[in-house]
Amino acid sequence: MSETIFHKIMRREIPADVVYEDEHLIAFRDIAPQAPVHVLFVPKQDFATLNDVGEDSAIVVGRLATAAARYAKAQGLAEAGYRIVMNCNADAGQTVFQIHLHLLAGAPLGRFGTP
Ligand code: 5GP
Repeated sequence: MSETIFHKIMRREIPADVVYEDEHLIAFRDIAPQAPVHVLFVPKQDFATLNDVGEDSAIVVGRLATAAARYAKAQGLAEAGYRIVMNCNADAGQTVFQIHLHLLAGAPLGRFGTP
């Protein structure tokens, strides 16, 4: 798998607004937010796309989702609601090929999924 900008952020080689980190994942604000709150949750284990995550690694994705939910609760966003999104490959518009989960919140979100 190739090196991505997110690996550089994890190594602190380029700056990011990091809001959470543990031994498994890092979370930082998206540089081009699509909602008032837009945080990316990125695992430290490498997977280019969700297609590369097998059953034996399902916990990696589970940790991203539960970390996002925990963050939303801690920020007082959970009651109003939020969206989590993982883009996979070209049709979904994936641009960074290290899996990541988007957390979008802070305002009513539009519908999604249509071209
Ligand atoms: P994707 O389109 O692959 O699902 O999402 C990649 C996300 O990474 C985009 O929302 C984009 O704005 C964000 N992004 C790309 N480069 C950087 C960067 O250097 N720093 C931060 N914080 N976010 C980035």
